[in-house]
Amino acid sequence: MNKTKLIDIISGKNISEYYELYKKTQWNSKEEMEEFQLNKLKKLVEHCYQNVPYYTEIMKNNDIRPSDINSIKDLEKFPILTKEIIKENYEKFYPLNQAKLKGVKTSQTGGTTGNILYKRNDAQTRSSVWGSYKRFYDWMGIGEKDRDFSYWGGHVLGHGLKQTLAEFVARKIKNSIFINAYDTRPETFSNIVSILNNQNIQLIRSYPQALYSLALKLKQKNYKFSIKAIMTTSEPLMPQHRELFKEVFGAESYDQYGCGEIGAIAYECNQHDGLHITEERVIVESNDKHELLLTDLDNYTMPYIRYWNADQATFSEQECSCGRKSRVIKQVLGRTCDYLNGINGETLHWAYFWHLLFDTEIATKRNFKKFQIVQKEPDYLLFRTVGDPLSNEDKVLLTSMVREKMGNMKIEYINEKDIENTKSGKYRPVINETL
Ligand SMILES: [Zn+2]
Repeated sequence: MNKTKLIDIISGKNISEYYELYKKTQWNSKEEMEEFQLNKLKKLVEHCYQNVPYYTEIMKNNDIRPSDINSIKDLEKFPILTKEIIKENYEKFYPLNQAKLKGVKTSQTGGTTGNILYKRNDAQTRSSVWGSYKRFYDWMGIGEKDRDFSYWGGHVLGHGLKQTLAEFVARKIKNSIFINAYDTRPETFSNIVSILNNQNIQLIRSYPQALYSLALKLKQKNYKFSIKAIMTTSEPLMPQHRELFKEVFGAESYDQYGCGEIGAIAYECNQHDGLHITEERVIVESNDKHELLLTDLDNYTMPYIRYWNADQATFSEQECSCGRKSRVIKQVLGRTCDYLNGINGETLHWAYFWHLLFDTEIATKRNFKKFQIVQKEPDYLLFRTVGDPLSNEDKVLLTSMVREKMGNMKIEYINEKDIENTKSGKYRPVINETL
């Protein structure tokens, strides 16, 4: 039995089916793809009209009937959906037929925006996302037997045994080794070198900045490796990142783009000339400011129709030379990726603070709506929070954990009514004013 089938049985998904389908549809002509999308869109709109109170209301108010959807362009009849609208109408996004939808899971998302939203998805959505992900592995030339090394932010504190065990089993099945990118002890560096030398690693998965720092250290010590592919996410992948990765790891880099609410949206092919949108599952529109409007064709438990996620992107005018006709994102402009710098020389990604606040359960206990950490001076951080005030105990805990990482910083806490967005509408979880 292959691994994908095994994971399907354990997790109740059907990734294999989607993967087999997407292997074929990646060669669709533009017309075939539009027909494919339209079919899914009609079903989604019908479901929303019948079952999702928010959409029933919107459609009645705007005089839209499911039978009015006869082309992708008809999507424009729908108003734009924002995170704020979802938060204000949260209850109305529960489908009346929720009990019939399989494998509904709720989790929090903030992603690069730091603005907390509770999202749901169902087994169908996850299977479709993972099916497209598996196809991306084909593009990178990575097979099921190839081992991968994941180097990114882990959880700050230990998790429950059940989750740890589930992660452990999943990693075993997926042939994956994980090292926490926040762990900068010398023995961890030696461990990484030994993994890369002896464990037959074929794929590295990481954030560009974290992997870049690691690659610089490896280069200084004249290490060179021969790996099949580098896969990056969450932050802009710059030409200098690609160059150094090629030099140190001997591999080409493959970027991907997604957001917390919708999941993976676009992946780079082996022509390295942009990211192909998974049009089988997402319709991507953009407004005159190059901001993305996303329609998730799979998610019936939390339907997103024309969702504005505040990211900006530019598109390629030409078809990709790989022969696939799907639209190509040239560049994603709006991914916030600020770092804070400790007085001890440590660099911390915003995701560290995200994990810190959730792993200590302070974010949930204090009903955080938003938070933001501002580095005002090299040795001074301001923690801004929107929610119930922090207790002294919370402050002592956070201060000691941050100092452990960043050195003896001065840290102040302030409870805010709201935290403003940037001009582009982006909410930034960390801001470094010292740069
Ligand atoms: Zn291509």
